[in-house]
Amino acid sequence: MKIILLGPPGAGKGTIAKALMEQDGSVQISTGDILRAAVAAGTELGKQAEAVMKAGDLVTDELIMGIMEERLQQEDCKKGYLLDGFPRTIPQAEALKVLLEKLGEKLDCALELDIPREVIIDRLTTRRTCTNCGEIYNVKSKPPKVDGLCDVCGSKIVQRDDETETAIENRLQVYNEQTAPLVDYYRKQGLLVSVPTSDLETVMSAIRERL
Ligand code: AMP
Repeated sequence: MKIILLGPPGAGKGTIAKALMEQDGSVQISTGDILRAAVAAGTELGKQAEAVMKAGDLVTDELIMGIMEERLQQEDCKKGYLLDGFPRTIPQAEALKVLLEKLGEKLDCALELDIPREVIIDRLTTRRTCTNCGEIYNVKSKPPKVDGLCDVCGSKIVQRDDETETAIENRLQVYNEQTAPLVDYYRKQGLLVSVPTSDLETVMSAIRERL
């Protein structure tokens, strides 16, 4: 499968991507995860991205396209990929189109998780992330077995810097202004599949119907 996952932060793109990965060996590519790893490792890329990410703004299209050009040509992408958090702007979508033409590849669909704002805010403010392996928890619906520690690797779990109320408000505004126009962009190309939920079964059947 070659799928773009669209939807505001907290819509459940990462969870859906992980579930889809298990179906056919496609790989999840999360630009947010790539950037967070670069920040943690203190690389040049991480230094450029850190402050922008903390504020909930977008890093430049050039920087993201540099990452994606390299990533999409790696061996593990041959079986398919689930793009989680990319593209985020019309210029990124246009650049992706050119890149895919160059690689001789075609997208199966752009899957929009159309989740209400109140649900998103509640999910993001209660979300916690493992500082080591990235496993996601939720203080209400999926707490770790031991308070503050990851079930998978035992490391500390924390609230992400960009999941404070102020940063979330900004990320949602950035989404509405810069990313939401992609829904129409992909609708016009006949690629859009929109579901009003992140319930796995519903999402899976919408994808099956489409493919
Ligand atoms: P995410 O985990 O997808 O919510 O991404 C976290 C942060 O990384 C975003 O708020 C942006 O600062 C940055 N980021 C991730 N993907 C992109 C992208 N495609 N374009 C620009 N910035 C991005």
